[in-house]
Amino acid sequence: MAESKRDYYEVLGVPKNADDSAIKKAYRVLAKKYHPDANPGDTEAEKKFKEASEAYSVLSDSEKRRQYDQFGHAAFDGGAGGGGGGFGGFGGFGGFDGADMGDIFGDIFGDIFGGGRSRSSSRYNGPMRGANVRTSVRITFEEAIFGCEKEIDINFKEECSSCHGTGAKPGTSPETCSKCNGKGKIMYTQQSMFGTVQNVQTCPDCGGTGKVIREKCPDCRGTGYITRRKKLKITIPAGIDDGQSIRMAGSGEPGTGGGERGDLLVEAVVSKHPVFVRRETSIYSTVPISFAVAALGGPVRIKTVDGEVEYEVKAGTQTDTKVRLKGKGVPSLRNKAVRGDHYVTLVVQVPERMNEEQREALRRYDDLMNGRTPKEEGGHKRKGLFK
Ligand SMILES: [Zn+2]
Ligand SMILES: [Zn+2]
Repeated sequence: MAESKRDYYEVLGVPKNADDSAIKKAYRVLAKKYHPDANPGDTEAEKKFKEASEAYSVLSDSEKRRQYDQFGHAAFDGGAGGGGGGFGGFGGFGGFDGADMGDIFGDIFGDIFGGGRSRSSSRYNGPMRGANVRTSVRITFEEAIFGCEKEIDINFKEECSSCHGTGAKPGTSPETCSKCNGKGKIMYTQQSMFGTVQNVQTCPDCGGTGKVIREKCPDCRGTGYITRRKKLKITIPAGIDDGQSIRMAGSGEPGTGGGERGDLLVEAVVSKHPVFVRRETSIYSTVPISFAVAALGGPVRIKTVDGEVEYEVKAGTQTDTKVRLKGKGVPSLRNKAVRGDHYVTLVVQVPERMNEEQREALRRYDDLMNGRTPKEEGGHKRKGLFK
């Protein structure tokens, strides 16, 4: 058995012959008293608020009021026997399912509190958080590894201070749309096998805001918001990788109905490095070494993100030998004290140009090798290259 609904006139505390302004006035008082913003977490207040909003949405609309006067609650509950239904019941058949009530709250709130609330969304289900905004920042390879501070320019949207978000020229107010009577929606009824079905359509005159602005605010051109360029300092953490984003809480789009602002997500676009290649926390590079150093061993200078380091090449190092420089890689994003490694590929270079003295020295070397490559030791002798 569905619980019986209170009479709408009783809910608002007005007589059956109350005029529109008396109904509106009564609703304003109740809405302010029971609004969820003023009573956070109070479900009883929320219930009263919804009840008053529902009553107002019907009694403030001459067509719906006429139907209500004639049929009572049965006019709106999908004809399911009258009395029951209401919120959540038979939602699909028109009348007041949850989503529709959201719309109705939004429209009423535009009316009661001056338009700003319902502007960006005609659905009002309490405070709505603003949308997240995405942008990007270009940083160098080293900046990504060690972190940095950057100043970026963003488009920052905020309520217009001239009109306080109404969009109407200061000194004027948005007017209630006469086509939809401020609802932003036009309801029409259809008969069906389930009884009277209410259909809802966005008002074409006001685009669903319930408001018509006769004289637009010159500062925001009637939008209620201004967007300005704003400089924002961001701290980029050590170890960030190309394509990862930094979240700047509260720097996104403004919320509605007292909701908090969305976030700004700043994606790091990391420039390529001429020497280093990064894969997660590892860095890779290639370092040329001379034939003599490869053969004899000796120190080479290797470039790392921490600057040059000296590395002792072992005698007899072959080309493409890989060495690991521990802890010279990328810091972990979670703990920058933990760093990956730097892998170096040593490439033995064959000299392309030599002077006579160098060539002579190499011929002498070849002589001493008796024409053998080092691997041929003990193998057959062949004639020296240069003889
Ligand atoms: Zn303005
Ligand atoms: Zn309208």
